[in-house]
Amino acid sequence: MRQIGTIPALRQYIHNRARRPIVVVPTMGNLHAGHLALVERAKGMQPGCVIATIFVNPLQFSPGEDYNSYPRSLGADVHQLDAAGVDAVFTPRINELYPAGVKHGTRVTVPELENLYCGKFRPGHFAGVATVVAKLFNIISPDHAVFGEKDYQQLIIIRRLVDDLHLPVKIIGVPTVRESDGLAMSSRNHYLREDERLKAPLLYQTLAQMAAGIAGGDTDYQPLQRAAVEELSEHGFKTDYIEVCDAHTLGRPNGGDRVILAAAWLGRARLIDNIAV
Ligand code: AMP
Repeated sequence: MRQIGTIPALRQYIHNRARRPIVVVPTMGNLHAGHLALVERAKGMQPGCVIATIFVNPLQFSPGEDYNSYPRSLGADVHQLDAAGVDAVFTPRINELYPAGVKHGTRVTVPELENLYCGKFRPGHFAGVATVVAKLFNIISPDHAVFGEKDYQQLIIIRRLVDDLHLPVKIIGVPTVRESDGLAMSSRNHYLREDERLKAPLLYQTLAQMAAGIAGGDTDYQPLQRAAVEELSEHGFKTDYIEVCDAHTLGRPNGGDRVILAAAWLGRARLIDNIAV
């Protein structure tokens, strides 16, 4: 596997060595089995080349968030990607992606979707995500890009970005990989204390209960949402939101596929999860 830190070197590698289709797997590193499932999916597409990226993107962190303390494990990540059969990993420094400085330069925004749900609680987060993903797509020109359904709103925003800007990239979503007790794997699960880690699966259990109720015909969403928030609060969670929405538009549910999106704090960890109905 080649590790490449600069845009010109990556472009040269792609020009000289990469066969198509090229599949890209963007990450912030600190890799776990969820990330590796994306790589596995990429490999399973019989690609000419799989390129992973590792970049903790400062633009998607709000002031006061965990940018500085976000777990970083570059050596171990590179080793895992190599073992998983990735062809190249792009590990740029901040200046490489933000030559004008992080606060300056062009932004990509997706106005209809970026202020809902997580966007309400993390102003600027999704513009940060959309901007860095647009940069990576412009640098790499991948044929396919793989993202986790774990970050469901992010996945829908990236699909919208690609549609609206006519980017010739096919977006592939991969189901959430969970611990054996149901907790969605996340780099931020390291923030949970031992007692919190034991409680953490309750978020997914609560979503699963709600989904079962809705699938059984209960479409009175507000009381279901309120009961879920209460249940979680009794166990020490501070819920940012739990909402049933349309699985494709993230708007109000109106008869089509639905998804329940949730974010809740448990101690220092902000857990996010979702479940299809
Ligand atoms: P991150 O490094 O957290 O930015 O995540 C990089 C990619 O991995 C994103 O597309 C995430 O949605 C995906 N991802 C993170 N956790 C999981 C998981 N538990 N299962 C599947 N995909 C995941």
